[in-house]
Amino acid sequence: MAGTLHTATRTKPVTDPGHGDAFTDHMVSLEWTPERQWTRPVLLPLADIAMHPGTVGLHYGQVAFEGLKAHRQPDGSMAVFRPWDNACRFRRSAARLAMPELPDELFVAAIDDLVRHDEGWLSDNPSHSLYLRPLMYGDERTLMLRPSRTYRFLLMAFVTGGFFGDNVDAVSVWVAHEHPRAFPGGTGDVKIAGNYAPAFNAQQQAQAAGCQQVIWLDATEGEWVEEMGGMNLFFVRGHGPRAEVVTPRLSGTLLPGVTRDTLLTLAARLGMTAREESVGLRQWRKECLDGGITEVFACGTAAVVTPVGQVRDRDGDWTIGDGTPGPVTRALRTALLDLHHGIAPDPDGWMH
Ligand code: PMP
Repeated sequence: MAGTLHTATRTKPVTDPGHGDAFTDHMVSLEWTPERQWTRPVLLPLADIAMHPGTVGLHYGQVAFEGLKAHRQPDGSMAVFRPWDNACRFRRSAARLAMPELPDELFVAAIDDLVRHDEGWLSDNPSHSLYLRPLMYGDERTLMLRPSRTYRFLLMAFVTGGFFGDNVDAVSVWVAHEHPRAFPGGTGDVKIAGNYAPAFNAQQQAQAAGCQQVIWLDATEGEWVEEMGGMNLFFVRGHGPRAEVVTPRLSGTLLPGVTRDTLLTLAARLGMTAREESVGLRQWRKECLDGGITEVFACGTAAVVTPVGQVRDRDGDWTIGDGTPGPVTRALRTALLDLHHGIAPDPDGWMH
C-alpha cells in the first residue's frame, strides 16, 4: 500500500477476545474527493476521528459497511475468506445509497494491508479469527438534504473468538410479527447502517421473551420466513448424507450472505440436495411437528453456523428435532470451519 503512517504493531495475541471490542491498532483510510476521485489509501493508528456535527452520514444515514474474516492457516500465514464477494456487495450497498462504488481492487488491497500489519493480534487458537469491518460514510459538512459530495472509507479489525468446535449450543428464537426488518423495494438486500438500528427493539423484545434471536418475516403477508437476526436461515429435511437443505429465496428483502452461498455449495459437495425455497411460518411449525423438518440453523460471518433449537411464537411454541444441534448442522459447520482453517480442499479458490 502507498502511504503508511503507523506505529509498531502488537506482537502479543489477544487471549479472550469476545466479539466486537478487541480492536487491533491500525485502520486503513481513504477518501472520495469533490473531484470525484479516491485518494491513496493510508494505514493509520486506530484512533478517534474528528467529525463536524453537521456530517451528512450522521444525519441522513449514508453509511454502508461489510463484515468478513481472516483466519490463521496451518503454515502460520493468514487467509481471508471470499473478500471479492464482500467487495462486490459493498459496491451494491454504496450504489443503493447514491454513494460512489469503491473498486474491488482497492477494497481487497486495504484488507491485505491491514491483515499484514495487525495479524500479530491473532493467536494460533483456532477458535479465534480476525474480523474485518470496512465502513464508508458521507462525510461532507452540510445539512442540505442531498447525497454527500465527499466520503470516507475506513477499514478496522478486531479479534473475535469462541465460535469453534462441536460444542455449539442451539439458540431459541422469537418470531417478530410487529416490526419487519425489510420491505419490498427497500434496502434489506444491502448492508447499510440504517437496516440495523430499527431491528434493535425486536431484538430487545426477543430477549424479554427469554429468546436469544429474532426471526424476521416478510413485510407483506407476515408469513414467509426470511432471516434470523443478522444471519441467513437453513431448514433441513431428512437425515444423513441424503438430507435436503433449503434456504429462503433471495426475494429482494434478504441479505445475500456469503456464508449462505458457501453452504449451498458445501452441502451439495457433501452429497446433500441444496435448494432455495420459500418456507412459511405455519409450514415450519407443521413440518417440525410431523418430523419433516429435522434441523434448522442460521449462518453468517460472525457466528458461522448456529443451530436453532426452540421457536417462540404468539400462536404457540415448538421445538426443532430434540432441541439440540443436529448432525447435518454439525457436519456443515465443521466443513466450513475446516475450509476457513485451511484443512479442507478449496476448489473454488475462496481463501485469499
Ligand atoms: N443477514 C443479515 C441481515 C446480515 O447482517 C448478515 C451479516 N452480514 C447476514 C445475513 C450473513 O451474511 P454473511 O454470510 O455475508 O456474513
